[in-house]
Amino acid sequence: MLKNGRLMKLAASLAALLACFLMVFTVYGEEDGDVLIVGVPANRCPVFYIDEKTDEIVGIGVDMMRIAAENAGYNPSFVDIQEATLKDALDSDAYDVVMPFGSAIPSAKGNPSIISSSLMETPFTFVTKQDRNLSQFSNLKVGMLRAQSGVAETVRKRYPGLTINTYETIQECVKALREDRVDALLNNSYNWSYILQKPAYSDLKIQPTAVFSVSFRVGTLDTPEGQAVIERLNQGIERITDTQRQAITLDYTSRRLYKYDLSDYLYQYKLALLAALILIACLIVFFVRKQKAATRKREEQLRQLVDIDPLTNMLSMSGFRKRVEELLRTHPDIQYLITYNNIRNFKFINDSLGREAGDDLLRFWSGKLLENLSEEEAACRITADHFAILRWIQDEEKIKQDEQRIIEPVRNFLIGQDKGTRVQICTGIYVLTPEDYQNIDVDKMLDFARLAEQRVCSTRKDGYEFYNPEEWKRGKQVADVCGHLPVAIREKELQVWYQPQINYETGEIIGAEALCRWNHNKLGWLRPAEFIPILEEAGLIYDLDCYIWNCVCEDLQRWNKQGDRRTISVNLSRCDIREELNTPGHFFDLIKTYDLSPDQLRIEITESAFAENPELLIKTTVKLREFGFQVEMDDFGSGYSSLHMLKEVPVDRIKLDLDFLSGAGDPERGRIIISHVVQMVQSLGMNLIAEGVENISQANFLKSRGCVEMQGFYFYKPMSSKEFEELGKTKTSSNAKEPN
Ligand code: C2E
Ligand code: MG
Ligand code: MG
Repeated sequence: MLKNGRLMKLAASLAALLACFLMVFTVYGEEDGDVLIVGVPANRCPVFYIDEKTDEIVGIGVDMMRIAAENAGYNPSFVDIQEATLKDALDSDAYDVVMPFGSAIPSAKGNPSIISSSLMETPFTFVTKQDRNLSQFSNLKVGMLRAQSGVAETVRKRYPGLTINTYETIQECVKALREDRVDALLNNSYNWSYILQKPAYSDLKIQPTAVFSVSFRVGTLDTPEGQAVIERLNQGIERITDTQRQAITLDYTSRRLYKYDLSDYLYQYKLALLAALILIACLIVFFVRKQKAATRKREEQLRQLVDIDPLTNMLSMSGFRKRVEELLRTHPDIQYLITYNNIRNFKFINDSLGREAGDDLLRFWSGKLLENLSEEEAACRITADHFAILRWIQDEEKIKQDEQRIIEPVRNFLIGQDKGTRVQICTGIYVLTPEDYQNIDVDKMLDFARLAEQRVCSTRKDGYEFYNPEEWKRGKQVADVCGHLPVAIREKELQVWYQPQINYETGEIIGAEALCRWNHNKLGWLRPAEFIPILEEAGLIYDLDCYIWNCVCEDLQRWNKQGDRRTISVNLSRCDIREELNTPGHFFDLIKTYDLSPDQLRIEITESAFAENPELLIKTTVKLREFGFQVEMDDFGSGYSSLHMLKEVPVDRIKLDLDFLSGAGDPERGRIIISHVVQMVQSLGMNLIAEGVENISQANFLKSRGCVEMQGFYFYKPMSSKEFEELGKTKTSSNAKEPN
């Protein structure tokens, strides 16, 4: 009995132990369940995404599946699928099931799949550009993520009219939409609620009317194991309540899951950023400019320190040097002089009246100078009481005025202050030569002026002296001639005189040479030799010649109208032969203006023009002759290249200069040469006129050699236009010598 009783106890204990074991096993077995590896795309926030804090895959889909799986006794583990699409993932051994699917689709390898019943109905929505409204979506071109090709297939089946293009990323989808390659994008509404939080997508709009739902299912390959898993899962899915579904969806869609990255911040605050950038740029520009201005100011101050004399505010020696160089370069046409000025008794003034009085005197002098100098002039204090001035040479009047306005007040400065001393100023003047404008050496010019100043100081009390008086005379002439030319033309100080030319055989006047005369208002009658070279050098001769030619044409027109048709020779300076002046064209215009025939003008050219530019002279001559003008070679025999010119320049008449006879050498040899020249010119088929015929023996000799056209004092001196006009009327003048 006991034995039985003991056995009974033992059996009971074993049963209890077994029950406990079974209980524990059942409890633990139920908690752990069968591990189910679920492959999901973890980039579909808020449906599937990786939680930043736990690094686990979470989301609506995960929670929904977890409930379904746990309901079915599984312990689900979610892993991010590595394959490009769900179809590829179906073929992988790494997952027991894959999700989400809308319908059963074959795997990438073409194996049939099996899907669970729907975990939930997922709304799918179209997104378009802001300005688009979708009324219907039967013929739309739609963009979707390539990873959603399973859904795409479901949609295609459901809406056969849709064309679906798939893209790798959502950025590519949006790009295609913006470039109108698709009409709309299609995605899970929950995804859109996340994606469209990106600021850069503010131009996209959800189409609320175009919503449809796609079932959210779990899938796996259609195998016996697969079928078992799906069957078991379906039981779990069945047990999910609507309340659970709503709670999960609400939980995730109400979270602000989208996290701004740098590009979002840049986009969001682009205007503010732009404004900030512009502001920074402006500030940089402002500071750079300010810096530059400060540097310039510093440089200017430094320059001033070097170039400006602090006592008198005039230029210092270095400033003067620079200014003079600049003026000579920019005004090579101005005739300048440089003066060196020194106060003879300055030391005495300083010693007896005090340094302050000396400084006052220097300041007074500089003030007077600065008042009276023009923009094109300059003055400086070289040192102590030594001043230098670059002055424009004008007429004597101007020098007297300077004396009155500048020098005299300085001389009397101390007397005016009751200090009783007359200031003595010694001045040396150097007149600049053309060479000084070529090689500008201010110190050299000042040295010359200084030498002249020292001569004054050593010989007289004060006053001025020229280093180069000849240049001074010339400088003054230049000023008188060039500076006065426009007035002279306007005031009719310039006139045309005519020197008749005759045929010595017939006594007839065959023409005249127009010669310029200048009745200068200050200098009286000037000879061409006194002003023509100066005007040529200053580049002003063309102005004078145009004026003279114009006067000649006016006279010719008047005589033509009186029925007195004449021919006049006019002079052409070598400086008038310049390509850009188009002198032949100018003559042509003149005869048109004055209604003249071109053979009424003979144009005299000189050898100097040939020496300067033979090609251009030949070209000009040819052109003039083409227009019908006669061209004469002036001063033949007086130059050095006559034969050359004779050979190369096609002229109508040679003007033989008899000056050749009166020069040094044996007159008999001269006559032999002339005889041959006459013969030579005739052989060349050109006309010949002798000029400078002063006596009857010259005239007779020329005639005996066959040269009958002559011009010279023996027949007529140059005369005014009026006189020449009268002479024409009488045809032969009483002045004209009878031919022998
Ligand atoms: P040219 O063209 O050889 O003119 C002749 C010069 O010889 C004139 O001097 C004339 O007065 C002078 N003459 C005339 N007959 C005799 C004479 O028998 N003996 C002497 N010793 N001289 C005589 P002028 O008028 O003083 O002209 C000098 C030069 O100035 C001219 O030489 C000409 O080259 C130039 N010239 C005159 N007027 C003009 C002008 O309007 N334009 C240009 N570019 N040059 C001119
Ligand atoms: Mg002449
Ligand atoms: Mg001549």
